[in-house]
Amino acid sequence: MKYSFLSLARNAFSHHRGWMPAWDSPVPKRHYDVIIVGGGGHGLATAYYLAKLHGVKNIAVVEKGWIGGGNTGRNTTLIRSNYLLDTNARFYDWSLKLWETMSQELNYNVMFSQRGVLNLAHTDAQQDAYIRRGNAMRINGIDAEWLDHKQVEEMVPLLDSSERPRYPVIGGLLQKRGGVARHDAVAWGYARAANALGVDILQNCECIAIKQESGKVRGIETNQGFIGAGQVGIAVAGHTSQLARMAGFTLPIESHLLQAFVSEPVKPIINTVVTYGAGHFYMSQSDKGELVMGGDLDFYNSYAQRGNMPVLEHATACAMQMFPFISRLRMMRHWGGIMDMTMDGSPIISKTPLQNFYIDGGWCYGGFKATPASGWVFAHTIAHDEPHELNRGFNMDRFEHGRTIDEKGSGPIPNAQ
Ligand SMILES: Cc1cc2nc3c(=O)[nH]c(=O)nc-3n(C[C@H](O)[C@H](O)[C@H](O)COP(=O)(O)OP(=O)(O)OC[C@H]3O[C@@H](n4cnc5c(N)ncnc54)[C@H](O)[C@@H]3O)c2cc1C
Repeated sequence: MKYSFLSLARNAFSHHRGWMPAWDSPVPKRHYDVIIVGGGGHGLATAYYLAKLHGVKNIAVVEKGWIGGGNTGRNTTLIRSNYLLDTNARFYDWSLKLWETMSQELNYNVMFSQRGVLNLAHTDAQQDAYIRRGNAMRINGIDAEWLDHKQVEEMVPLLDSSERPRYPVIGGLLQKRGGVARHDAVAWGYARAANALGVDILQNCECIAIKQESGKVRGIETNQGFIGAGQVGIAVAGHTSQLARMAGFTLPIESHLLQAFVSEPVKPIINTVVTYGAGHFYMSQSDKGELVMGGDLDFYNSYAQRGNMPVLEHATACAMQMFPFISRLRMMRHWGGIMDMTMDGSPIISKTPLQNFYIDGGWCYGGFKATPASGWVFAHTIAHDEPHELNRGFNMDRFEHGRTIDEKGSGPIPNAQ
């Protein structure tokens, strides 16, 4: 069913009882051409592009819980392509371009809002680093603007831009095309569009073993029985190393908790995304009015998907340096998700030592913005059994050969753990 003004009006006459479910809940088939493990944005986008662009007909997405219930539904939704290194810059800007047309492509409003992402600088050295990054972005055809102190003040009037904070703001790097989107809508939009192309979405179906024969994948064992497959791709975020272990290899990945929290809703007070340069903190405002805030990783490995107080305390201390009024706001909720941190801070989208078994992971804390491009290149990698030009550098053997893609603090901080 196409969503449109007409279908909305038509359904209003039947008191909205005529809407079809957005996707089916089929019984698993005995065999699929391709199985994608992980029903987050990345897995669902991969299935959609496999069906849409590569003509693969017999696909299943296997999700142990409910779709979008992993990091896709837990993140703070920042979308940007402000990277220094070519491999990352080109990949993330392709992603940003796909975001710009995603609602039309999927016929589903993902509420992508290009309200800009502003990285604040607090020292001369940081200013130099940001200007260098902005120049590199512009060479790659990506928008970047340096804002001086006065321009930052005009853009974010409630920011404390005085000399009072311990690290006063001196300027900021702005990417205007960056912004935020509605996270769960992305999972639902891809699920609905993939299902319309014949993809089976199997929820409450956990992959518990990878079956192989003579070095080639044969299918997966699940809590609903064995499902055969010609090819298997995994997009399981914080559980990537567990699935790799099932396939018989290890990865240079550590799993850490990342938290986020929201305040009570208030009137519109900030119309961009701001990141603090002197600590790990960033903030935007949701359409409901809540201030959405994030901070640092936990410094120890964990699979607990819950928040904790020390990181929250650190993040709110940074918040109050930037926006003193926050001390009077109540916090509504905080939560956590598991990050698969690679040792260079860049993702792995790659073939693996097991034939016909592919991996999409290592997103650190930046994979939401990658969702469309990740699905796009992962689908290509599976369909052609070789990487697309855009993900050739994200091969897992780069760690073996020393060809790491390390943004050195311009993206995720690789040594944060
Ligand atoms: C607090 C927080 C803030 C973040 N902020 C941002 C941000 O602002 N911008 C940004 O770009 N990124 C951000 N991220 C990172 C981003 O959320 C992730 O990188 C991205 O959502 C990963 O998507 P995914 O589809 O790979 O994973 P997920 O959405 O986690 O999907 C993986 C799915 O695999 C399933 N699964 C796992 N094991 C199995 C199994 N054995 N069998 C079947 N299914 C399995 C899980 O249940 C899960 O649903 C943040 C993350 C967190 C937690």
